[in-house]
Parts: sequence; structure tokens; C-alpha cells
Amino acid sequence: NAVPGVAKLHPYLPGKPVDELARELGLDPKDIVKLASNENPLGPSKAVLTAIEAELSELTRYPDGNGFELKSALSEHFALTAEQITLGNGSNDVLDLIARTFLQSGTNAVFSQYAFAVYPISTQAVGADLNIVPARDYAHNLDAMAAAINAQTRVVFLANPNNPTGTMFDVAEFKSFMSKVPEDVVVVLDEAYSEYVSDENYPDGIELLPLYPNLIVTRTFSKAYGLASLRVGWAASAPEIADLLNRVRQPFNVDSLALAAAKAALQDEEYLAASKELNSKGMAQIIQALEARGLGYIPSKGNFITVDFARETSEINQSFLKQGVILRPVANYGMPNHLRVSIGTQEENQRFIDVLNEMELDG
Ligand code: PMP
Repeated sequence: NAVPGVAKLHPYLPGKPVDELARELGLDPKDIVKLASNENPLGPSKAVLTAIEAELSELTRYPDGNGFELKSALSEHFALTAEQITLGNGSNDVLDLIARTFLQSGTNAVFSQYAFAVYPISTQAVGADLNIVPARDYAHNLDAMAAAINAQTRVVFLANPNNPTGTMFDVAEFKSFMSKVPEDVVVVLDEAYSEYVSDENYPDGIELLPLYPNLIVTRTFSKAYGLASLRVGWAASAPEIADLLNRVRQPFNVDSLALAAAKAALQDEEYLAASKELNSKGMAQIIQALEARGLGYIPSKGNFITVDFARETSEINQSFLKQGVILRPVANYGMPNHLRVSIGTQEENQRFIDVLNEMELDG
């Protein structure tokens, strides 16, 4: 007797945990390389560890349900007001809040083929319909997405860069898209990977907020800020939208360690710069190896790259696993010939490259 839509859900498939594979292979977890979940390979920032330690004596108390300090830090950093911010238990939680606030049975959410897996989960969980638009060269086809909006559409999800494809649309394309969207349709610009983008034509959603009262920008501390385990994400929007999201939000959805860690991470500019630099070097290292091997890939602006093996990849993925390298199959996204590789440290990337180079791929 589940609510309509739930029976049709496909569960989210997380990357295989390191400990699980280590047990299966009888290896030390230190010998496993996980390049499967677009995590930050640097490990946590020292400032974050210090901030968490300072919070430990307060574990018996509820966290600040309004996240006052983190919101203050975010509003100062991004020139927003605290009333524009909604905090989430990871940005997944924020995406889910948006679905619960704006979608219900009889409405639909528009998103692209190859879009992030949480959009259909949150949409179907509230009984709304999926309005999926074919991609163009793996990227969002924004013209087709605008054309797909109908009278029942309440939300459009856009990821920029997109996961799992790493594709990006530019500011002119985004503005042209927004000019075609009715004002009563909420546009969610998911910028989970924005910190990695150096392209000068990247549309920074937070800067564009004053132009669009129906825009919600989502960001996360899970990627470039290195806090995936602590689950902190947030949305920036017009205060009217933030007010609605905050009514639906559970009061203590972000715990006190996560609040303190996120604030410290935001202020640790050196760590962020190191994350970006490691990522661009690692991306170049992996691309060079793929090209040397004659493999296709989707050019990516994120901290991952999706490789085209030109054949079904289950066995290839299994061979990587047997050698202790965890990659991310994307067959559940309708991409059975691809595997997604997160950018790791130089050594981790080299492990991937060495296993790749030993692999028989001809014929
Ligand atoms: N959006 C996109 C496009 C993502 O790839 C991810 C992480 N896989 C998220 C949102 C959610 O990240 P988190 O919940 O850790 O903030």
C-alpha cells in the first residue's frame, strides 16, 4: 500500500564501500582505491577537524535548528541574506525538500536524460510525474527542456556541471532558457560541482539570483570542501522560496558537528584552492592516459570523467574491482558502455591507469 510512484522507484546505487571490497578481496583497506563517488581525495582540512573537536563536548544538546552561524558565514561569503538560505542534510536533502514543497500527484518535474539519479527519486516519491527530455551529446538540451514545460510542470532540475556526464551549459544558454520559463515554474540549478569550474562563461547561479525570483541554486560541502560524510548542502533562493522550504524542512536536519565543520571548511580557502589544483592536474593525468589508450570520454568540468569503453562494461568493471579499484558503473543512467572515474590523488589515478593499461580491450 505504498503511495503511488514509490513502487516504480529505482533505489539509488551508491559506490561500493572500501571496507566491503577489502573484505571480499582479503586486502587491507589502504590498498583499495575508490574513485567512485566524486569525493575529495585530499582528506579533511585540519581546520575542520579542529572545529569538530571543539563541538564534541556538546553532543547531548540538539544542534541549532536554524543553523544561525553557518547561515551567517554563508551569507557573508556569498553576499546573500540569511533569509535566502535553506540548509540540508547534504544537497540531496535540499532537492527532496524542493520536491516535497512544489510537487505532488498530477504535476511533473522536467529534467534531462542522464540527469542526477536523485531527481527521479524525489519526484516519484511525492507521486509526481517524470518529464524526461532527451540529451544532446550527453548534455542538457535546454531548448528542448524549455519546450517540454507544460501546464502541469512545477519544477525543472538542471545540474551544471551535470553528473554523471560532467557537461556544462554557459551563461548565455542559461539566460535564454530562463527567458522561456514561466515564472510559476521553479528552476533548480544544482551546482554541486561549481567550485571545480574555471570556465569564464560559467553561469554562477548565486550571482544570477537577483534576476530570477523562481530560481533555486543548490550547493554542497560534499565535493570540493571535502565533507561528504557529514552531509551538509544548502540552497540559495529568493526569501519567499526559502521561507517555504524552511517550513517543510525537519528542524534538526543538520547536526552540530556538520554545522561547525561546514563553517570551518568555508573559511579554509587554502584547502579549497588545493582541492581545485589537485583536480585539474588529476584530470589532465587521466585524460592523457585515456587518449594514449585510444578510449573515448565525455569532456568534464567536474571532479570525475565518464569513459566510453565502446562495449558493455560489467566485466571491465569487475576486472577493476578485482585489482582493488572501485569505479562507478552508469548503466542505471542508460550508459552501459561507460564507467565514471572520480579524480583522485596522483597515486590513486596512477593505480587506475596501471590497471587500465594492463587490461586487454581489443577485439
Ligand atoms: N547533485 C549532484 C549533481 C550530485 O552529483 C550530487 C552528489 N552525488 C549531489 C547533488 C548530492 O550531494 P550531497 O547530497 O552529498 O550534497
